[in-house]
Amino acid sequence: MSAPEVGNIFHRARGRTLDAFPEEKEREWKGPFYFIQGADPQFGLMKAWSTGDCDSSGDEWGQEIRLTEQAVEAINKLNPKPKFFVLCGDLIHAMPGARWRKEQTQDLQRVLAAIHAAVPLVFVSGNHDLGNSPTAQSVAEFRETWGDDYFSFWVGGVLFLVLNSQLFYDASKCPALKEAQDRWLDEQLSVAGQRRCQHAIIFQHIPLFTQDVEEDDDYFNLAKSVRRELADKFTSAGIKAVFSGHYHRNAGGTVQGLDMVVTSAIGCQLGTDTHGLRVVVVTAEKVVHRYYSLDELREKGLEDDLMDLMKEK
Ligand SMILES: [Zn+2]
Repeated sequence: MSAPEVGNIFHRARGRTLDAFPEEKEREWKGPFYFIQGADPQFGLMKAWSTGDCDSSGDEWGQEIRLTEQAVEAINKLNPKPKFFVLCGDLIHAMPGARWRKEQTQDLQRVLAAIHAAVPLVFVSGNHDLGNSPTAQSVAEFRETWGDDYFSFWVGGVLFLVLNSQLFYDASKCPALKEAQDRWLDEQLSVAGQRRCQHAIIFQHIPLFTQDVEEDDDYFNLAKSVRRELADKFTSAGIKAVFSGHYHRNAGGTVQGLDMVVTSAIGCQLGTDTHGLRVVVVTAEKVVHRYYSLDELREKGLEDDLMDLMKEK
């Protein structure tokens, strides 16, 4: 694999890993740390939603620009710095091939480029990034723009897996890609299953479920058969938590010790949550997390809260 371009903060996921964290230096547990999770900046949805036409690309995204700028400012003020900032999909609203896609992407990258150099960006692909039924072409476009669509990396003894949940949702137009991710995932889960890591944590856009593993299928979860199979695989491998977005509300539940965490959006809210980000603390024993509004996060230093979170059972 050739070296990544120096300074390209959007292409750190290459060769199915993230260049920010060399595995040989990160395999051992070194003590508690935290990271920030965000979801669905989805440039363009607020306008599309307000006009009642969610299927349109959204021809304005000034509000999302401001909200994402606030998120970046809030993260840049944090001390100590988070290990990374993961964005769990639906980076922009315009679907592959739709109008405004290029402009929304350029604006998002411009805003994100202001992130502190010590905070690597981690990108997860959403349905708006790849299309509801992804194709080899839409996946290739994502990889050119944001890096690999699935990959794994280690931080201080913790194994993180980033998955392409569109391949679980509808792989009818790219079955070979689904098979490749499935094979890769089984290998990764066998590492986790042998407990060769302190914890294993997954990021994907579409949650397995939003409240309960037995809930009915709808737009916001994975189909029951797929969900059950994944939940079984994840729980037998000892995965601690799955962090997702897509729902534009905070939600989630547990299944056999697995914490399914659904995080509301930086951008458009579909419920009563505030625009916000989730702070995730990883200790030797557990993974604890709390959602903060952008205002709250920007106004308060996290130091006391991080101490509290580390003590939480
Ligand atoms: Zn989505």
